[in-house]
Amino acid sequence: MTLLDGKKTSADIKESIRLEVEQIKKDGGKIPHLAAILVGEDGASQTYVNRKVKDCEYVGFESTLLRFQDSITEEELLAEIEKVNQDADIDGLIVQLPLPKHISKDKVMATIDPKKDVDGFHIDNVGRMVSGKPCYLPATPYGILLLLEKYGIETRGKHCVVVGRSHIVGTPMSILMNLRADCTVTITHRHTVDLPKYTKEADILIVAVGIPEFIKADMVKDDVVVVDVGITRVEDTSKKSGFSLKGDVAFDEVAPKSSFITPVPGGVGPMTIASLLKNTLLAAKGEIY
Ligand code: NAP
Repeated sequence: MTLLDGKKTSADIKESIRLEVEQIKKDGGKIPHLAAILVGEDGASQTYVNRKVKDCEYVGFESTLLRFQDSITEEELLAEIEKVNQDADIDGLIVQLPLPKHISKDKVMATIDPKKDVDGFHIDNVGRMVSGKPCYLPATPYGILLLLEKYGIETRGKHCVVVGRSHIVGTPMSILMNLRADCTVTITHRHTVDLPKYTKEADILIVAVGIPEFIKADMVKDDVVVVDVGITRVEDTSKKSGFSLKGDVAFDEVAPKSSFITPVPGGVGPMTIASLLKNTLLAAKGEIY
């Protein structure tokens, strides 16, 4: 079994971006600038956004963090997004999810200028992705493609089973494993009858459900490649923070049967940030639009 080390792979990608930005600075070019919007006080969201801002600084990007109270109205938030859209210096904009219930995620995503949509959630980018046109690929599925590529995992003709069909992970992942990775793809969800029948057929199993240790050893075949997207905080009194992070795969029992597997943490999470930085660099260079 080989670990798919997202932390190391992401560090390598960040280093190459850092060197490229250094060169851009020397040449007097446009320094990439990412803006992030955070609404409310959710602890996990704050951690994710702070990580993204810190990584921007590391690679030499400019970053702007716009924080708003939970009480911000939908109209006010859309107006703030519009301001960022109009700001010529900002190349990429992300809005950290989840948003408070009174704000429509769909309206927020639709308001972001597709040219600055480095999370790849705008319907224009989704349409471009499905049509095989240049676009910002959604950060988590993109990161997974990069990780599989880095480890030289053969995907062509393999059977990829994706568990979960969210708009940000499962659905775009299934599309990319088909269109970009040439897999035969099965997508499953909560209404799938006899899920283990499908997971046991997977050469490559990608799991994004958000249920800790959902996939057990008897649900996979020998030598499977496992990508665990799940990150759930579970109470852990032995930790200073009071919680530990669990994936959607029961790592200890599934890893011995796998040929490759991502750890949680240190697998998909760091790759998501690396692809976000890659998308921001593409935005600054005007390579997509
Ligand atoms: P989500 O929007 O809650 O979607 C979960 C999906 O799982 C849904 O499609 C749901 O099916 C499916 N599902 C739920 N129960 C199931 C069951 N019993 N059998 C089969 N499918 C089932 O979650 P998400 O945003 O995709 O995130 C999933 C996990 O990945 C979370 O832990 C999240 O924190 C993590 N995540 C990590 C990263 C990263 O960078 N590492 C990025 C994004 C998300 P239905 O559609 O039928 O309801």
